[in-house]
Amino acid sequence: MTGPDPKAPAVAIVEDELPMRRFLRASLEAHGYRVLEAATLAEASIVVTSHSPSVVILDLGLPDGDGIVFLTRLREWTRVPVIVVSARGREDDKVRALDAGADDYLTKPFGVQELLARVRVALRHADRALVEAPVFTLGDLVIDFGRRVVTLAGHEVHLTPIEYRLLTFLAKHAGRVVTHQQILREVWGPSYATHAHYVRVHMAELRKKIEADPARPTLILTETGIGYRLREP
Ligand code: CA
Repeated sequence: MTGPDPKAPAVAIVEDELPMRRFLRASLEAHGYRVLEAATLAEASIVVTSHSPSVVILDLGLPDGDGIVFLTRLREWTRVPVIVVSARGREDDKVRALDAGADDYLTKPFGVQELLARVRVALRHADRALVEAPVFTLGDLVIDFGRRVVTLAGHEVHLTPIEYRLLTFLAKHAGRVVTHQQILREVWGPSYATHAHYVRVHMAELRKKIEADPARPTLILTETGIGYRLREP
């Protein structure tokens, strides 16, 4: 019997339901990750501070407190990627968690492939924070950050300054969901937090310029009730 590679990324699972913890552990270990477990927020604090996991999977419904309060405290001292897990229909919880600093979310029930994809994106973004790539490529779409030029299949796409900021913000979070609030704050500024319609209007214009069929977008995906996700390259 060989144990997991001690250099493999460690994923901390914060989840009170034993069957769910078992499912997560089995799925992650089968794909080479090390796994740490916590069934309460009190245990989670110990696990995160003493083992420095590479990713935290945080269930929001825990017996000893609010997962979002835990997340807010965590963000005071660490940027460790956090993927929150919540029940279907709890869109408000997801938006609150993302605005409090979560990197992504999974909706129960979810499959192994979805779980692994989210963990891979989280790890890649943690690495990418150290080295910013000068060019972003997603299929035919290329953003040259240095030259501020966007091309689609080799042809330059003329974007307004707002559309350019919108697209580059999504690109920097490719594969992850961003909320309406995060977009408003980053693209327009903190005083525009209530102008959600700005996002819809400018997103529609941006999609017309980069999507083959803006009514059926394949690059910028809508996360209903939450925000948008640019497909990961
Ligand atoms: Ca729970």
